[in-house]
Amino acid sequence: MKYAAPTTVDEARSLLADNPGSRVFAGATDLIPQLRAGRPEPSVMVDLKKIDQLMSVSHDGGQWTIGAATPTSNLTRNADFTGMFPGISEGAGLIGSDQIQNRSSLGGNLCNGSPAADSVPALIAAGARAVIAGADGTRTIPVAEVATGPGQTSLADDEFIVEFEIDDAPANTGDAYLRMIPRTEMDIAVVGAAVRLTMDGDTVSDANVVLGAVAPTAVRVPDAEAALVGSTLDDDTLAAVSAAASAACNPINDKRGTIEYRTQVAGVLAKRAAVIAAERAQNGA
Ligand SMILES: Cc1cc2nc3c(=O)[nH]c(=O)nc-3n(C[C@H](O)[C@H](O)[C@H](O)COP(=O)(O)OP(=O)(O)OC[C@H]3O[C@@H](n4cnc5c(N)ncnc54)[C@H](O)[C@@H]3O)c2cc1C
Repeated sequence: MKYAAPTTVDEARSLLADNPGSRVFAGATDLIPQLRAGRPEPSVMVDLKKIDQLMSVSHDGGQWTIGAATPTSNLTRNADFTGMFPGISEGAGLIGSDQIQNRSSLGGNLCNGSPAADSVPALIAAGARAVIAGADGTRTIPVAEVATGPGQTSLADDEFIVEFEIDDAPANTGDAYLRMIPRTEMDIAVVGAAVRLTMDGDTVSDANVVLGAVAPTAVRVPDAEAALVGSTLDDDTLAAVSAAASAACNPINDKRGTIEYRTQVAGVLAKRAAVIAAERAQNGA
């Protein structure tokens, strides 16, 4: 296995095109444990962290651009970003520990393909896009279209994510991410729930609800969104959000949680996240 550290996107493109079986990485907080557990070694490990574009966070023209390899601690420590997207920051801030977050990236969290990836539901709720480079050029797709199943993505072998684009949140918008883990620290979500709401006074004018860890990929919950829009988050609405979130679940049964447990908790977290998102929207996030 060889190691390569390109310093430009084009150099990384060429390395991937010229070396079948090569693999990009950022923090390697997923990749190294997987190799140690016996997964096949790549021909070349392509380190993305030496490419400035992939390590930067910028805000310009009503859009945030986040390098796919930048450590998630660069986001959680960014007061402007966290002020506008507290829910995304919450998700990123739950990944492992401080040490892990100084390595872990949004690109790695998404492309590892875990249904329980903590940063992904809130990114989807915010309508984030992934800019993808490959031998044939660059394309941009919604983050929701990247992961296709556990450990799988829609990217070709010679493609990698360069950066994420997130439009500024509209006025009176707030987001929130909650997760449930069986222990108090350092565990994988049995359920994650992201909600983003835009408020017009006391009434919800726009809603995005996304669950993690309860299906092969993160899932949107259109029935919960429909129940929220036009409501004042009264008890009947929250009950409908909860029921819709539980109905959207197609979870696994494992040592962390049974199907019944995950399904019930999804309903609870979705309505709690909705209440927090609404408070943030009304208080200027
Ligand atoms: C102790 C520990 C605790 C953890 N806790 C959590 C947790 O609470 N929540 C959670 O969600 N995760 C957790 N993780 C998993 C991991 O830290 C995260 O998924 C992290 O965000 C991965 O980022 P990375 O940069 O380290 O990815 P890497 O390991 O570098 O890469 C992961 C995968 O993504 C691919 N990849 C990386 N970057 C790109 C790119 N730009 N384009 C295309 N493909 C790419 C790699 O080829 C690889 O397949 C934990 C890991 C450890 C070791």
